[in-house]
Amino acid sequence: MAKKILLWYRNDLRISDHEALHEAVTSGAEILPVYVDHPTDYSQYLPGNPEIPGFRRKFQLESLQNLDQQWRSWNTSLIVLPGKPEDVIPELCSKYSIDEVFLQAEKAHDESQQQRKLERNLSAIQVPWKYFYGASMIHPDDLPFDLHDLPDIFTQYRKRVEARLKIRDCFPTPTKVEVVPHQESEFVPQFPDAQLDPRCALTFQGGETEAQKRLHSYLWESDSLRNYKETRNGLIGADYSSKFSAWLANGSLSARQVFHEVKKYEASRIANDSTYWLIFELLWRDYFRLVMEKFGTDLFSLEGITARKQKQPQGLDIVKFHKWIDGKTGNRFIDANMIELKRTGFMSNRGRQNVASYFVHDLGMDWRLGAWYFEAVLLDYDVYSNWGNWAYVAGVGNDPRENRYFNTARQADMYDADGAYRKLWLD
Ligand SMILES: Cc1cc2nc3c(=O)[nH]c(=O)nc-3n(C[C@H](O)[C@H](O)[C@H](O)COP(=O)(O)OP(=O)(O)OC[C@H]3O[C@@H](n4cnc5c(N)ncnc54)[C@H](O)[C@@H]3O)c2cc1C
Repeated sequence: MAKKILLWYRNDLRISDHEALHEAVTSGAEILPVYVDHPTDYSQYLPGNPEIPGFRRKFQLESLQNLDQQWRSWNTSLIVLPGKPEDVIPELCSKYSIDEVFLQAEKAHDESQQQRKLERNLSAIQVPWKYFYGASMIHPDDLPFDLHDLPDIFTQYRKRVEARLKIRDCFPTPTKVEVVPHQESEFVPQFPDAQLDPRCALTFQGGETEAQKRLHSYLWESDSLRNYKETRNGLIGADYSSKFSAWLANGSLSARQVFHEVKKYEASRIANDSTYWLIFELLWRDYFRLVMEKFGTDLFSLEGITARKQKQPQGLDIVKFHKWIDGKTGNRFIDANMIELKRTGFMSNRGRQNVASYFVHDLGMDWRLGAWYFEAVLLDYDVYSNWGNWAYVAGVGNDPRENRYFNTARQADMYDADGAYRKLWLD
């Protein structure tokens, strides 16, 4: 009898370049694909109960719908159940006589706790599990150092990994998959009412199919990669940057796929500073994962990963907090960015650096509150990149400089010289 494997989907919502799926299929096992839906309630973290737009939720549901469609072509459906994974997964294991659970390893605190609880509950019913590491561009086993030797400064890390850069090949998409028959109800997404503002940089749609389209269009159709290094600090439009982040965050797209597509582009069109720079940014993404793994919950503390004593917090000022959220601080550059975020779930990297710096250094607020708000609303929320970048801007992360202050007036002059961005969102 064929072995039965439960594939627990987390932030790896795809069928291409999926090591766990590939291994399960090539072993001849029958597969039960499962997603456990447990959205976070942010009201406990955000004082004054700000409105949380439904963009990320919608994007996530679209991603699941797309994944479900892929599985339907293999004569089954994706099981989507509410609840706690550590309860739901073992229950399904017992119900369908599962032999092993495959899952992508996560490194952040809550996710690791969840893994420990799941391991305990699976041990109790004697079902083994196996972790896979497909979320980063560089496989953790290919790093040229142990985690405890991870340099605390990005440039040192980058030089060490670039000296021996090894990116594994993508795993082929299976053509034929044996499945565990199941009787769970079919997935019917309940989309939130999330009215996207027509001024949005891009109409993001969740799922692997859309992710592949965006990858293709950014590189091959619009040829935007060619000038990425010059355009990446832009504020308006679809193509000043790749906009891959939301798909990367829930794993509809893998960083490895981006890497290999860039290499193809370099071989057939052009290899220049811009093509290098996209990979460089993906190294940042990998780096923040490792930082979180190395420092654990320190990254969520006021002092972050440094021993620096903060002059903060100057208390929690709910009025200031809400003015920042609502784009009513009176600083037009900050306000335009915050309104874009609220109305679309997206903000450029330049905008994020400015609004974060303003929140911490100009408003004198506890940086973690800003990070919580971003966590709640960002379409591309990724625990590692969000908290790592916030700590960095707040001066308590991986930055040799203590005070990473952005002069927002100067930044607006440089990056929105004609005021078009401020006009777009405020007038
Ligand atoms: C305060 C703050 C919070 C942030 N929170 C997040 C977050 O929750 N999720 C997230 O994906 N990014 C976050 N970023 C990083 C960055 O702003 C976004 O990745 C980027 O703006 C997404 O747009 P893009 O895909 O067009 O990026 P591009 O410029 O096209 O970059 C390509 C990819 O490289 C990666 N990348 C680029 N810049 C960074 C960076 N600074 N740190 C880590 N990875 C990077 C992303 O995966 C991105 O999709 C944050 C930055 C700041 C300053």
